[in-house]
Amino acid sequence: MTAIKEPSFRESVDLMFNRAAALMDLPPGLEEKIRVCNATYTVRFGVRLRGQIHTFTGYRSVHSEHMEPVKGGIRYAMAVNQDEVEALAALMTYKCALVEAPFGGSKGGLRIDPRKYEEHELEQITRRFAYELAKRDLINPSQNVPAPDMGTGEREMAWMADQYARMNTTDINARACVTGKPLNAGGISGRVEATGRGIQYALREFFRHPEDVKKAGMSGSLDGKRVIVQGLGNVGYHAAKFLSEEDGSLVVGIIERDGAIYNPEGIDVEAVHQWIVKHGGVNGYPDATHTAEGTAVLEEDCDILIPAALEGVINLSNAERIKAPLIIEAANGPVTAGADEVLRKKGTVIIPDMYANAGGVTVSYFEWVKNLSHIRFGRMQRRQEEARHELIVKELERLDRYLGDAWSMSPDFKAKYLKGADELELVRSGLDDTMRIAYQAMSEVWHDRDDVDDLRTAAYIVSIDRVAKSYRAKGL
Ligand code: GLU
Repeated sequence: MTAIKEPSFRESVDLMFNRAAALMDLPPGLEEKIRVCNATYTVRFGVRLRGQIHTFTGYRSVHSEHMEPVKGGIRYAMAVNQDEVEALAALMTYKCALVEAPFGGSKGGLRIDPRKYEEHELEQITRRFAYELAKRDLINPSQNVPAPDMGTGEREMAWMADQYARMNTTDINARACVTGKPLNAGGISGRVEATGRGIQYALREFFRHPEDVKKAGMSGSLDGKRVIVQGLGNVGYHAAKFLSEEDGSLVVGIIERDGAIYNPEGIDVEAVHQWIVKHGGVNGYPDATHTAEGTAVLEEDCDILIPAALEGVINLSNAERIKAPLIIEAANGPVTAGADEVLRKKGTVIIPDMYANAGGVTVSYFEWVKNLSHIRFGRMQRRQEEARHELIVKELERLDRYLGDAWSMSPDFKAKYLKGADELELVRSGLDDTMRIAYQAMSEVWHDRDDVDDLRTAAYIVSIDRVAKSYRAKGL
């Protein structure tokens, strides 16, 4: 078999950008200015572990500073390289613009297999990496604010935030230097599951538009739709769990590192998650059929395919055989530019990464604002809201007594109505609103322009236009 030449991830993002930019009327030179990555910093540092010095390579790439701080996660993986962080940083620029998070785009990575190290070793490595970045303002509440990504989570963010605080003892806003921190270290409720929750809200919004659902050859709602998810990490797990537990979708396939499991009757996502925690993979899970060649399950029959793992998993070698009429990109860049073209021709609807997985950065934005305002959301107004609601409930109770058997309040109305919103409810409401509005902006371009036949191009057009406007406002 001859190997098929695919563009690199970075080239793929550029090709997709170019497709959209060609349909826009940007001033000469501005298109190039927006596309290029402003700077990428590479650092190599040594850490003494197990009696010898280990050298690590890390990156932080800044794609666009049309707004500051710049934002984007830091991933820990052996595959991390400059091309990848630059592609991911570019996606962050467009993602933030699309969901109106007031940031430029950035991304970082450390070439490491985190599973090979003990916790205290990872802490040492992370603190050293954070030190290298912070001393160059590549971690800084007003300039560059990292977050979790593949291979990192709350724990790493807490170490980074603490490292920054140790280096900047008088910075009152130190906690806003990274997001995705644990609650007790300045984090916000709902950040861990935010990207998965965003996938759910994105799909709910998609299914609120029957004409869009029709383009994917489907009808109805999320209820009963068959879902295949690739990667049961933080994003895939939460998306699959929420869709199956709250929206009536049927998760029929789960693809993991050690193969895939399939059951047309539906799989209990929480049970599989617990199985993976205990056994390290899906192999042996009793209530489904196991296939060693996991990626083959991407090609199984289903309604919604959710690639939530690596970039480039849907490529020229399998695109033609993908049966799902709807793909939602929970991962960044799971569909290569070549595969995107094949799928577009087939009529597959793709909800693009820059929109689909923007729930993470959206809640990061809320966390950053919380850190800068030094107060938990809802703290000032919650009880006041409850007191006002109480006034209405008292009046209704009076009416209830007066009307006797003719009318009475619904049994759980009082408790539900009296309860003021806590931080988690506010975060969910803000995320839901963001996902709805961003979808509408994207879908409007998709419908209104005859030269735009996919959501990805529409998303790029909305984002590029916003970035261009902010460059122009700066006099460029
Ligand atoms: N790593 C996530 C992403 O790719 C989150 C970034 C952030 O919260 O800044 O969108």
